[in-house]
Amino acid sequence: MQYRSTRGFSPEIDSAQAVLNGLAPDGGLYLPVVLPSFDWVSCVKKDAQGMARQLLSAFLPDIPDMGTLVQKAYTGKFETEELTPTVPAGDFYVLELFRGPTSAFKDVALSMLPQLMSAAKAAKGEEKDILILTATSGDTGKAALEGFKDAPGIRICVFYPHGGVSDVQRRQMVSQEGENVTVCAVYGNFDDAQTGVKNIFNACREMELPVRLSSANSINIGRLVPQITYYFKAYRDLLDVGRIQMGEEVNFSVPTGNFGDILAGFLAKKLGLPVGKLICASNANNVLTDFINTGVYDRRRVLHKTDSPSMDILVSSNLERLLYLMSEDTALVAKLMQELNEQGHYKVPENLLAEIQKQFWAGWCDDAEGAETIAKVWQNNQYLCDTHTASGWAVAEDYVNQTGDNRPMVVLSTASPYKFPAAVLKALGETAKGDEFDQLEQLNAVTGVPIPKNLAALRTMTERHTGVIEKDNMLPFVLAL
Ligand SMILES: *Cc1c(COP(=O)(O)O)cnc(C)c1O
Repeated sequence: MQYRSTRGFSPEIDSAQAVLNGLAPDGGLYLPVVLPSFDWVSCVKKDAQGMARQLLSAFLPDIPDMGTLVQKAYTGKFETEELTPTVPAGDFYVLELFRGPTSAFKDVALSMLPQLMSAAKAAKGEEKDILILTATSGDTGKAALEGFKDAPGIRICVFYPHGGVSDVQRRQMVSQEGENVTVCAVYGNFDDAQTGVKNIFNACREMELPVRLSSANSINIGRLVPQITYYFKAYRDLLDVGRIQMGEEVNFSVPTGNFGDILAGFLAKKLGLPVGKLICASNANNVLTDFINTGVYDRRRVLHKTDSPSMDILVSSNLERLLYLMSEDTALVAKLMQELNEQGHYKVPENLLAEIQKQFWAGWCDDAEGAETIAKVWQNNQYLCDTHTASGWAVAEDYVNQTGDNRPMVVLSTASPYKFPAAVLKALGETAKGDEFDQLEQLNAVTGVPIPKNLAALRTMTERHTGVIEKDNMLPFVLAL
């Protein structure tokens, strides 16, 4: 199946090559030239792994033996074999995406991507090993390490800012097991680490290396497709409890950063799943709210540090895919992305904005409103949600209040409340005590909600990766791996 770049200046390639390349040479993102025709009704009737198999085979037909890959990626890795349960809470349903090995929603995609990459490498006869380089502000690094550990023919190196991640996040990464993993702290902040990684990619373009460099971020089509699965799964769960009949539309509210998660929902809809509105929820970094409401994307603003750090983003890379899917105009996408790079802002044509507004609704919620939401949802529904999920909930309520739309609402939950124990305790009116590990136990004592096993085990795990380097030493560090 042929893939093309959203910017139109790169050669068309097959789906296995798209997974290997990640980013297209012209800077664009890969999408199928023609979306696959898809039997969505039969997909809804399958179990979670069956759904993943059908979706991945449809989008990535050049990668053979998808059933085995899906099984290797997911069997025994999540708390439940249904992978992503849907839980009723008050008027809404919560789709729990955090039941994976690191308690973050990125596990859904990063459990699958390494399998896809290894298989794509074999399918294309790529002989060099792949080296995944990633800078992380916390969550992605651990989910990637866990996904790529011991993947054949692939190595992974994660850099994180020294002193710039939480205790739990640091412990999760430095205790990582696996023969093919490297974790290293960098003196500086997340931007320094990220810039360091970009510089390595640039410097290595001119070099003849024994490995092929790649990245694990959400621009890779192999990370996006696995995320379509849970929209089907949620729909199936609502059918099973009799909340909907086959064909009835369901709304989804999605805590959004890079626009990957919500774009997967739009793809589910393009494949036929009866999705109503897709609600794009932001935190105080509300660049997407402004965009969807006005058609102007403007990244010239300060980045706020919030209690939902995984959504602290000014440039949402996967929005580029939406612009292409809605306009099918690579020249327009290339022009808008150039304006974003050079001037820091762009405006989409009126007709495109109208199409976007038919499918999407957007709102945002600051830390104070998020905290109120956590407390309210806990008191009213005995459901404990994290800071990211709280924004999805709050914006879903705003949507219902403003529109009166009473179709069933599914709020996507992207992290366990135990990944952000201090903020969740504070929201519940408690004073967080001691270190983060004490706070896990404190939150458990206050709520009775079980602590995920992977987080509870961390306090006593051995620290295996204790190095810290200067940011200028990142390139020699990687070359010596
Ligand atoms: C990555 C992340 C998000 C944002 O998802 P995108 O696909 O980048 O929009 C939201 N919440 C959590 C906890 C995340 O880790």
